[in-house]
Amino acid sequence: MKTRAAVLYLMEQPVPYAQSKPLVVQDVELIGPGDGEVLVEIAAAGLCHSDLSVINGSRPRVMPMVLGHEAAGIVRQVGPRGRSIKEGDHVVFSYVPLCGHCPMCACGRGSLCENGVRANVAGTLLTGARHFKNAAGKVLNHHLGVSAFSQFTVAAEESLIRIDPSVPLDKAALFGCAVTTGVGAVVNTAKVEPGASVAIFGLGGVGLSAVLGARATGANPIIAVDILEPKLELACQLGATHAFNTSTAESLDQIRAATNGGVHYAFDCTGNPAVLTQAYAVTRRGGTTIAVGLPHPSLTFPLSPLSLVAEERTLKGSYMGSCVPQRDVPRFIAMYQAGLLPVDLLHTHTIALEEINAAMDTLAAGQAVRQIIRFR
Ligand code: NAD
Ligand code: ZN
Repeated sequence: MKTRAAVLYLMEQPVPYAQSKPLVVQDVELIGPGDGEVLVEIAAAGLCHSDLSVINGSRPRVMPMVLGHEAAGIVRQVGPRGRSIKEGDHVVFSYVPLCGHCPMCACGRGSLCENGVRANVAGTLLTGARHFKNAAGKVLNHHLGVSAFSQFTVAAEESLIRIDPSVPLDKAALFGCAVTTGVGAVVNTAKVEPGASVAIFGLGGVGLSAVLGARATGANPIIAVDILEPKLELACQLGATHAFNTSTAESLDQIRAATNGGVHYAFDCTGNPAVLTQAYAVTRRGGTTIAVGLPHPSLTFPLSPLSLVAEERTLKGSYMGSCVPQRDVPRFIAMYQAGLLPVDLLHTHTIALEEINAAMDTLAAGQAVRQIIRFR
């Protein structure tokens, strides 16, 4: 079948993207679904910084690729020997497909699924297949088993989580990445206790979801940090108790003063190692720093081993919020329905697929939280 999709052929094109147009919106051929795969009509797809990081080359992927990894849609066809998903099901995508039997899946750490990450790096589905071709017959790679910037996509069943069909699909899309990553970092990776103090650096879709997660767990105080004032205001609406603009030099001291020596948990949601260093610096003795942002693979950051040892600090990475998507997406959606995770304010813009290059400029400038492409 034909589907209209945004294809990235070349990373590191010049900015502004509205002019260089790295994403080529075109009709492509979609084949399948094969065994264990499903055809999904995408209803809504969010723009995440990780998509922008592929475009600007800080998260290199195999080219060419149908981009996009945060989405919700409706199952239109189930391949032969389909097991768990039915036609008409409403689904959210998981950007790691969990094979269910590798050592990481077996010990309950599915976000580190070894077969899932191998397929993601290769640009294939978990089944090993590639199902998009352009008009010239060139095979296009899949982005994280999802490829959401397309009217239709084919995915492995393991990339899908069935959801309550009463949830609006544009809000459901947020649970594919921003919410899973941000809330999961707080509740799964850090396991923040009620009354613990937290600081969240970088208030995009991921960081603001971490603010919502911190609020839901009863953390206090909740310190929101960014270099853009509108982001700080939004964080306060979402439940942050304090907001600090770290473009001023004294702000780290102010955070330590406001928390009587530093926070129990600090989260970097920017992907900038300098910010990870700041996050580490505002934790208290015994505190935990969680790295959520994804920096360029060549970057490093300085760490005092003495502070790690003598102050019993912890540094942890959090990938996909340490989530098991089949467990956590339905539970986070249930929390949303109960009013505990008011994610609606994260959805700041609705756009058409054709506007995607300009929308990447808006994302790079920090002028949006989640821009959602509506397909239907
Ligand atoms: P975003 O671009 O929407 O938000 C980033 C925010 O950081 C913006 O509000 C920006 O103003 C702020 N910021 C930039 N520089 C800053 C600085 N020096 N100090 C404080 N704040 C600063 O991004 P997003 O979509 O929310 O993603 C955030 C990060 O998380 C990215 O690196 C993304 O690749 C990564 N990510 C990680 C995972 C994971 O599983 N660990 C999943 C998705 C995204
Ligand atoms: Zn993402």
